[in-house]
Amino acid sequence: MACSFLFENTLDTAPGVEVQKTQSKGKGLFTKQMIREGDAILTERPIVCCQFSWNRSYNYTACHHCMKSLETAQNMCRRLSSNYALELPYTDTCCVRMTSDVPPVKKCPRCSVPFCSDECYDVSMMQYHKVLCQGGRIKDLNHPLNRLDEAWKKSHYPPETATVMLVARIAAMVEQSDNPNDLLARFSQFLDTAHDDHSNIAHKLLGPKFTEQVETITSLFQDLRLGTEHMLKLKTVVGMQSMFALIGMNGQGIGTSSVSQYVTNVDNLTLTDEERASADAVIDQAYEDMEKVSGQFLNCEGSGLFQLASCTNHSCEPNAEVTFPHNSSNMVMVALRDIAADEEICISYLDDCQRGRSRHSRRKHLRENYVFECLCQKCEGEVGEVSETSEEDIGDDDEEWEDMED
Ligand SMILES: [Zn+2]
Ligand SMILES: [Zn+2]
Ligand SMILES: [Zn+2]
Repeated sequence: MACSFLFENTLDTAPGVEVQKTQSKGKGLFTKQMIREGDAILTERPIVCCQFSWNRSYNYTACHHCMKSLETAQNMCRRLSSNYALELPYTDTCCVRMTSDVPPVKKCPRCSVPFCSDECYDVSMMQYHKVLCQGGRIKDLNHPLNRLDEAWKKSHYPPETATVMLVARIAAMVEQSDNPNDLLARFSQFLDTAHDDHSNIAHKLLGPKFTEQVETITSLFQDLRLGTEHMLKLKTVVGMQSMFALIGMNGQGIGTSSVSQYVTNVDNLTLTDEERASADAVIDQAYEDMEKVSGQFLNCEGSGLFQLASCTNHSCEPNAEVTFPHNSSNMVMVALRDIAADEEICISYLDDCQRGRSRHSRRKHLRENYVFECLCQKCEGEVGEVSETSEEDIGDDDEEWEDMED
């Protein structure tokens, strides 16, 4: 029996795509009609999203609401490679318009954070920015929001997978809502309270000094005086752990970049072999230089909660993947191969590196971070195979943490 799936934030779905109850995995995303490789399965806006804390210190000029990069590809490459003489070819294909001055930006009149449009500014004011706006104190390290952000950064070093600012936005949305109970019901779908593994998942998110850090963050959160009337969770250490579990298990990584969109646009140009070779040479060099100077901070990265996409189960051999092709937090889920009618649509919760690991290592990661035993075809096919212990398995951070716990 299909549940209702046309959520407010779903912008589009392929015909036949629907949420169904499964026997063993709760909800799942299915298709009633064949989907071709490369086709879009669904397009969705996040209910809430936010840039990562460390990522923000690289000075991305991005929309405070939809994370759209507001920098031209050339300026972004220049900043991330520290090469201010860099000239990219075919810059007229860049999605951010090159003008002599800054691109058209709307700024909050009180705190000056940038927005890509009046619409994003209006939505953010309506949903959360009224209570989160720091006004002239945006750089004041004693402002409660900055103290919370700093405490989070200290307990959550890159690579980032979550941010406490997402919790702050959720609390602010509840605080500003005319109908907080409806909104809380929407957020509660993300958290299956039947699990009592919240402290384990929060532990994975925060690392070895976990207990101390949850206490610090919970206490700093009180100083914000946000949403606690409706969200009693935010007042206690245990409640805060379950909020971290919510964002840890359901937070979808988002990456926006005017550079990657520009590169796609250049790829689509009709060029002679010579022109192609020379464009590729400049772009490859730019990527190499950016990687050297800014390492893992190439995109404007953050995480968000997506209502429909979060119904998609995991497979170690997925038939779909999540993409952000529009230089914004609007997600497009794309088919990695032809998907037959009545087949379940699955994405991978593991990154490429984790997917390459042994069955034992993949399942351990999924159990500890997402609280389920993977029974995907790949894992089932590998039952009984002698588990090879790879180097990564031995050097597993998770194990180091466990040792420290004892
Ligand atoms: Zn925007
Ligand atoms: Zn503001
Ligand atoms: Zn699996």
